[in-house]
Amino acid sequence: MASSYVDRGAREYEGSEVSGRPPREIERSEVSGRDPHGFVPNEDLGEPPSTRLVRAPGDADALSCSEDGTVCFACGFVKTKANKDPFNLAEAEDAFTDMQKMIDQHYNKGISNPALVDMIYEFYNAEIRPLGDYGAWTRISIGRHLLYHRNDEDVMVNEVVNMLYAQVQSLRNKVWVENVLDGCVEPHIKNLTTLNQLVNTMTSTLGKRKALRS
Ligand SMILES: [Zn+2]
Repeated sequence: MASSYVDRGAREYEGSEVSGRPPREIERSEVSGRDPHGFVPNEDLGEPPSTRLVRAPGDADALSCSEDGTVCFACGFVKTKANKDPFNLAEAEDAFTDMQKMIDQHYNKGISNPALVDMIYEFYNAEIRPLGDYGAWTRISIGRHLLYHRNDEDVMVNEVVNMLYAQVQSLRNKVWVENVLDGCVEPHIKNLTTLNQLVNTMTSTLGKRKALRS
């Protein structure tokens, strides 16, 4: 990535001594309104930003839950009962109940959330969708249903624990600083403090989850 700093040495000063006019550097700053000695963001130089926000590297099983603009089949199922063939509707309701059971049996029990989303996706397309004129149910919509729409307290606590654990696992790789020249290591106080806070929060959340289950 190109430097974000303006090379002051490359600025033009010629002409100022002869004419008595201020250096051209100052003229430019008057036009742009920018401090000529200050930091110039990459965006102002027409370059793409050099950083972006990402998940913690250990947060491997997290679902993408940004809205994809599609309709959630499960949430709409109750409303779509009108104008359905009664026989097919009864079949669909049974299959829907089986799907709910499948979610309860598998969520947070040895399979990752993305794998559970795949399982629901396959089940919907094989067992439910052929029973009526039901639309596509996207994996993102299934993920949102799993994590948001059901408003399930157990799910929320589990997701918070998973998220905190991923942050802890990622951060624990970055809490000591090594001087590559002499091999000396010393603690990175800021990251250690954050790690300590995350561990404390996770510990208390685990206690709450235990209380919820008892
Ligand atoms: Zn839903």
